[in-house]
Amino acid sequence: MAMMFTPTIDELRNFPEYVKSMEAKGAHLNGVAKIIPPQEWIPRRRFYNMNELEGMGRFDVIDQSLEPTEGRRGLYALVHKERRPQNPKEYKKIAEQKRFRKKISNPDEVEKLFWRNANTRKMVYCPDVNQSLMDHDLEECNFQKLGTTLDLLQESGTTIAGVNTPNLYFGSWGTTTPWHCDDMDLYSIYYLHDGHAKTWYTIPPSHHQQFESIAAALLPEEAEYCHEFLRHKLYIFDPSILKKHKIPFEKVIQEKGEIVVFFPRCYHAGFDHGFNISEGINFASERWIPIGKRSTRCKCQESTVDIPMDIFEKKRGPE
Ligand SMILES: [Zn+2]
Repeated sequence: MAMMFTPTIDELRNFPEYVKSMEAKGAHLNGVAKIIPPQEWIPRRRFYNMNELEGMGRFDVIDQSLEPTEGRRGLYALVHKERRPQNPKEYKKIAEQKRFRKKISNPDEVEKLFWRNANTRKMVYCPDVNQSLMDHDLEECNFQKLGTTLDLLQESGTTIAGVNTPNLYFGSWGTTTPWHCDDMDLYSIYYLHDGHAKTWYTIPPSHHQQFESIAAALLPEEAEYCHEFLRHKLYIFDPSILKKHKIPFEKVIQEKGEIVVFFPRCYHAGFDHGFNISEGINFASERWIPIGKRSTRCKCQESTVDIPMDIFEKKRGPE
């Protein structure tokens, strides 16, 4: 089982210290942990009123579908097609159209339905909106200022959307996050602001290599083209494939109001149960620095995130 943490508001105030205390209990070994924030933690004082969110602007919306790969049962490639940009209110209206909805809500049945109809479903998704819905003056666990080692990146003058500034994700039934590990093997953290739950699958970091070998065996052409093809964030496969290859995995259902943390080198994937709004960002710790140095990067795509690791050295080196 993924570990679950219930910090007090005071404990949340020093986020890097809190992560350290989670790791002291071994949370990182599993790769994923859930944080149930205390009731006093109010990331946003105002409600998630769509009439208000309408004013945020218009963002890229994509049609998403899962294309079956030839001869590989339960293995799908994500296909994205651009749509007209929409504001959050317009997006929600589309996401709640009958053809983008489902009738059931029991998480086990939702999961079965997700995999059963994976290749026939059409999804509409509005990911990577480079904004935050947390109040600027939020003191504890504010994704805009987590205060971790990754702040050195900002201080060195580099801002990368979604990496060191938070991104919002407007999802709907079936919208899919492919199997991936975070850029530079950083940590990531997600808060589900509002709406339906999200199902995550995670692989413990101890099985990182084994997972990559299985993925490469399933997709040999992709693996030959780019050794880091999972960094292209294109593939999702059924957990039955993991079972078949005896790779341990966790299933975490993130409900509205809950935080999920992925630790370095934890492969994860997931899907949304219905219209929802989540926010995510990467972060780092001292422990991550040697991991980041060893992390592999895809060399075939221009959009590859490549953080110069010397910025972390300077800080640690002698004066
Ligand atoms: Zn590549």
